Amino acid sequence: MTVLVFLDPSTPAGRLADASVAQLLVTDQGVIRGDGVFESMLYTAGAVRKLDAHLSRLRVSAASCDLDLPDEQSWRAAIATAVTRYEQERTPGPEDPDEAVVKLVVTRGPEDEPHGTAWVTVSPAPESGRRQREEGVAVVLLDRGYDSSLAERAPWLLMGAKTLSYAVNMAALRHARTLGAEDVIFTSSDARVLEGPTSTVLLATRVNGVKHLVTPLLETGILPGTTQGAIFAAAETAGWTLGYGPLEPRDLFEADALWLVSSIRLLAPVTSIDGTAIARDRELHDELSALLEAIG
Ligand code: PLP
Repeated sequence: MTVLVFLDPSTPAGRLADASVAQLLVTDQGVIRGDGVFESMLYTAGAVRKLDAHLSRLRVSAASCDLDLPDEQSWRAAIATAVTRYEQERTPGPEDPDEAVVKLVVTRGPEDEPHGTAWVTVSPAPESGRRQREEGVAVVLLDRGYDSSLAERAPWLLMGAKTLSYAVNMAALRHARTLGAEDVIFTSSDARVLEGPTSTVLLATRVNGVKHLVTPLLETGILPGTTQGAIFAAAETAGWTLGYGPLEPRDLFEADALWLVSSIRLLAPVTSIDGTAIARDRELHDELSALLEAIG
């Protein structure tokens, strides 16, 4: 079941539409060029998690593509309409996960039209996210093919923006499956750790009893993760120390715990890299999970 709400100036609360029938023009540049931006957020216990951070990143992504974005009030109204309808239509029970994905999408629209197309969908969250939180995930390192300073030299590549052009990310995940893994950590041609195709890399070490969290440098062109940002803020308040890369693959193997983190799966412990088992520190995992849970 997917609820669909278009942002439409003539309907300030957002226009409900049928997600099971065609709704987009085939000439929309979002469809033919992947020219648009999006956000995926977790809706659970009656609330969209980290809504402000996602709306803010959507604004940054749109600005980097010179894309017009509906105002924030319109997004909030459309999201409220969509989750209200979702709550009305869902049938709570053992099959109902009580977790949904709220997706915000804006495309450039057809070439001859001044405005893009913007919509919100709400659908049940995939089971894989909850499973990965519990069981962890086996990853492979895959070369992204560019060096870690390219983002600064080539802003037109839109690195660090959450654009609709995810075909390469999905291809990398399929490739990982052919290698017997479930996910990927990208590396740069100068052997820096970057990110997953749909996640941020996070590692923890204990140094003289102090818990230390590290994530790769943003300047490498990775997406600034809202989950990583929220975890860092909560962990710092709880007394952890924080650091930003540069990270090399060796650091991943030497960490006391390693995760892929993202809005829908939250914290997924990495269990192996290229077939080599990775340490899983249950205490660090439970503590970070509790901090993330409390963020709401
Ligand atoms: N990096 C990439 C490339 C992503 O696609 C995502 C999320 O989908 C993330 C990182 C994690 O971002 P967030 O924590 O905001 O979901």
